[in-house]
Amino acid sequence: MGQIDSILNKESLTREDIVYLLKAEGEEKTRLFEASQMVKSQYVGKRVYFRGLIEFSNICSKNCYYCGIRKANQKAERYNLTDDEILDAVRFAYENRYGSVVLQGGELSSPAFTRRISGLLRRIQEISKGTLGVTLSLGEQPEEVYREWLENGAHRYLLRIEASNRQLYQKLHPHDDIHNYDRRLESLKTLQEVGYQTGTGVMIGVPFQRWDDLADDLIFMRDFDIDMVGMGPYIEHKDTPLYPYRDQLASEEERFQLTLKMIAILRIMMKDINIAAATALQAIDPLGREKALKIGANVIMPNVTPGMYRNNYKLYENKPCTDEEAADCTNCLDVRISMVGDEIAYGERGDPKHFFKRVEKSAQ
Ligand code: SAM
Ligand code: SF4
Repeated sequence: MGQIDSILNKESLTREDIVYLLKAEGEEKTRLFEASQMVKSQYVGKRVYFRGLIEFSNICSKNCYYCGIRKANQKAERYNLTDDEILDAVRFAYENRYGSVVLQGGELSSPAFTRRISGLLRRIQEISKGTLGVTLSLGEQPEEVYREWLENGAHRYLLRIEASNRQLYQKLHPHDDIHNYDRRLESLKTLQEVGYQTGTGVMIGVPFQRWDDLADDLIFMRDFDIDMVGMGPYIEHKDTPLYPYRDQLASEEERFQLTLKMIAILRIMMKDINIAAATALQAIDPLGREKALKIGANVIMPNVTPGMYRNNYKLYENKPCTDEEAADCTNCLDVRISMVGDEIAYGERGDPKHFFKRVEKSAQ
C-alpha cells in the first residue's frame, strides 16, 4: 500500500497525486475514504447542516448545453412560484429547524428581478427573526446586484464554475457574451470580494472531460480559497445538445464513484470548508447523498419546493423526490443520516469555518 499512503501523507497534492487518487480502486479506494472520513471528523465533526432548497423558478435566459431547463428547451413546462409560495417553503424550513435556505433558479437579470429577490430576502429575515442562513444560486449578476442582495440578508452564494478548464467550459456552453468563461470567473471573484461565503463546483463525468480536468478542478477550488463546494455527477437530459454524446459517458455507477472520490480528495485538501452532498447523487443511488456524507460531505439540501412544481425543475433525468412533499423527505433523511453515523445540526446555520479564517487572513 506504499504509494497511496505516501500521497495521503503529503502536505499538498499535485495534479498527478490527485489523478492517482481518482483512479484508486479496491483497498486503495478504501484507504482514501478512511483518510477523508478521519479528516472530516477531526475538522468539521460528524454534524450535518440542512439547507432547505427552494427551486423557485425554471425560467432561464441561458442555454447551457447540459441543462434541461435551458431557454431553448421548448418542452420544459415553465413555472415561477409566487412570493407567498416561496415564503411558505421558507416557513416550513424555519419551523422544522433547518438552519438555512437556498433560493435557486434559472438565471435572469433585470431591475424587477433584483427587486423581487431583495424583497424576499427582507421577508425571510423577518420570518426567521434574522436567524435563518440564506444562500442564493441565481447565476451571474452585476456587482451592484450582488451587493444589494448581501445588504438585504443573503450571505452565501453558489456559482459553479462548471469546468475550470476554459476549453472544456467552451465545449459545454454556447459561444457568446453571456456564456463566457471569463465572465463566470469574474463573477466568482466579485462574490468573494463583496463578502459572500463563496461556493463553487463542477459536474463530474461530462462529455469531453479528462482525468487532468478533474484534478485541475480541485486545484482551482484550493487556489481560489473557496468556502463551500457542491459538485455532483453529470446526468444527461434528452432535450439538450449534449445528449447525442451520451455514448461517450462513463456508466452512471462510475460517475457516482468518481464523485465520491472527488469529495473525499477535496475534504483532504480543504479540511474546513463546507461540502454539499449534491442532489444529483441521489438520482443515481437512493442512498447517494448519505454515502457522500460518510466520506467527507457535511451539508445536505433537502428539497422544500412545493411538490407540484418539482417535476418541472428537471435539469436531468430521474430527478429524485419529485412527487414527495417536503415533510416526507425530512423524516426519511433523519433516519438515513443517523445510519451513516452523523447527526443533524438542527437550527444551526452551519457557516463554513474556512470563511472566517479567510476573512481574518485577508484583514491582516
Ligand atoms: N442558473 C444558476 C446557475 O446555473 O448557476 C443556478 C441553477 S443551475 C440549474 C444549478 C446547477 O445545476 C448548475 O450549476 C449545474 O452544475 C447543474 N446542472 C445543470 N444541468 C445538469 C445536469 N444535466 N446534470 C447535473 N447537473 C446539472
Ligand atoms: Fe440556466 Fe443554470 Fe441551467 Fe445554465 S445551468 S441553463 S444558467 S438554469
